[in-house]
Amino acid sequence: MNFLNWYKEQSKKHGAAKAVKLFADVYGSRLKSELVNKILSKKVECPICGWRGHKFYDYIDGESFSYGVECPQCLSHGRHRALFSWLKNDFRLAEKSGWALVCAPEKPIAPLWNSSGSLKVIKLDIEPVRGVDVLADLQEIPFADNSYDIIWCHHVLEQIPDDKKALSEFFRVLKPSSGMLIVSSAMARDEKTNEFGHSNINHFGNWRIYGQDFPQKLAGCNFSVEKVEFNLTKQDYEKFGIDREEKIYICRKAV
Ligand SMILES: [Zn+2]
Repeated sequence: MNFLNWYKEQSKKHGAAKAVKLFADVYGSRLKSELVNKILSKKVECPICGWRGHKFYDYIDGESFSYGVECPQCLSHGRHRALFSWLKNDFRLAEKSGWALVCAPEKPIAPLWNSSGSLKVIKLDIEPVRGVDVLADLQEIPFADNSYDIIWCHHVLEQIPDDKKALSEFFRVLKPSSGMLIVSSAMARDEKTNEFGHSNINHFGNWRIYGQDFPQKLAGCNFSVEKVEFNLTKQDYEKFGIDREEKIYICRKAV
């Protein structure tokens, strides 16, 4: 981590006083983690970059604290490690062909998208970050109907003002029958989605917190919805630092 850039970013978000406290918390936590990784046995491993140690780094920002989630080497979180393992080993991305639309590409798993020579990958975001190919709003995707074999979209829909419009755009550009929208969101344990009606600065600027009704919302946009089963043992979850609550869905155009 570049601490100077990190401090500037936090200072802009939370003000200088809070940024100083956050800096002290993060720095102290890093020192502790580095110490335990030096002296205690290795029990966690990052499947993305191969880093091994006693514990992943804690993640601390102005709104949240997560214990032992961030890989010190590739900065992946448990969600990235879950997506990477599934995409590589179960979905077998390297064997896929056709066209893939990757929305808000996750940096730690970006190299995996190059693993198939037959898959043409278009990376899309609303901001010019993470080497994207196309700048666009998901509420108005600039591609033809029925043009993509794979659409990849994780923890993005909660940031979109009109998520139904974005889902209808995914439906429009996805190929019938074989096309797959692979999607997930931050989901609370509440049954129902909590719509804020605006970008809520107390919730990372998100427009909603999805509840357990997220798959019903996908189905409501004419998709058939299948929950992904991770091919991971209890030991794998612990070793890779993956949250067992992580859920991914595969959506196809319902016939
Ligand atoms: Zn890693």
